Amino acid sequence: MRNKTAIFAVFVSILAAAPFVAGQQTAPTSTATAPQTAPHVWTAGELFRRNIGTQQQQRTQFPPHKIIGNIYYVGTESISSFLVVTKEGNILIDSTYEVNVPTIKDSVEKLGFKFSEIKILVGSHAHGDHQEADPMVIEMTGAKVYAMAEDIPDLKTMRTPSGKARPNYLVLHDKDEVKLGEATLVAHLTPGHTHGCTTWTMKAEEGGKSYDVAIIGSMGINSETTRMWSNGALTPLGEEYTRGFKAMHEIHADVVLGSHPAMHGLAEKYAKLKAGSEANPYIDPKGYETELAIEEGAFKLIIENQKKAEAAARPGASN
Ligand SMILES: [Zn+2]
Repeated sequence: MRNKTAIFAVFVSILAAAPFVAGQQTAPTSTATAPQTAPHVWTAGELFRRNIGTQQQQRTQFPPHKIIGNIYYVGTESISSFLVVTKEGNILIDSTYEVNVPTIKDSVEKLGFKFSEIKILVGSHAHGDHQEADPMVIEMTGAKVYAMAEDIPDLKTMRTPSGKARPNYLVLHDKDEVKLGEATLVAHLTPGHTHGCTTWTMKAEEGGKSYDVAIIGSMGINSETTRMWSNGALTPLGEEYTRGFKAMHEIHADVVLGSHPAMHGLAEKYAKLKAGSEANPYIDPKGYETELAIEEGAFKLIIENQKKAEAAARPGASN
């Protein structure tokens, strides 16, 4: 979500009849008489509201905790930030808003780590809710910062409330690796939501097993009126999203995480963890495919609606 949609975000969160912050598995309550078996197709607007939450949720600390292996959650209730801990220092994924930096620092410290141990900062995509605070975090830590080449123009011009200069990003290309200590993060270009939107993958070890972890950048569409189909063909943005979904389908994950916690059902999984679940609830082999299907369903629904509208507007169109 971008800065300029912030007012809109507040507006839609007021409009939302129910807060869709519960998570990926929970469809909004439907008053329709559709058959019970029909899976709910999320609209882009519903997904936007589910992901972004309220302004309060964007700024409220979620209990920091270990997810799996060396990966920890240090974000808020509706905006993710992840810490990857290695023997040679730590990696932070998503600085979020500047206003959240003290919260993230506190979460890192509550887990027993030092904020100054962050040696590398990366991000999910060039929207303010995920990367506004990049200059603040690198000033506080001296970390190196990497970004996908296609996102750098927008990251360089991003509004920064403190007025701090945007950093000089080290350039990544599709499938480049970022390494620190024993950790290797792979940057997958999954464009559409932004031109350089990045889905990160890495391995996590637990109980003598190795798991594939994916942190989804976002395949969400912030406005229902975004043109994906025009004059009988995909628009350039529609084609970009199509390339993004193709790249998403090439990723395998046993553990799904996302730039907004609703993408990975954080609240439900953390509740299971707190309840003393023996199996790690984050090991969720279907979670990635489920979330991908939800996000792709919203994209396909927009195309379907725009195709229908175009056909209806055609001279001589009949029903
Ligand atoms: Zn976004």
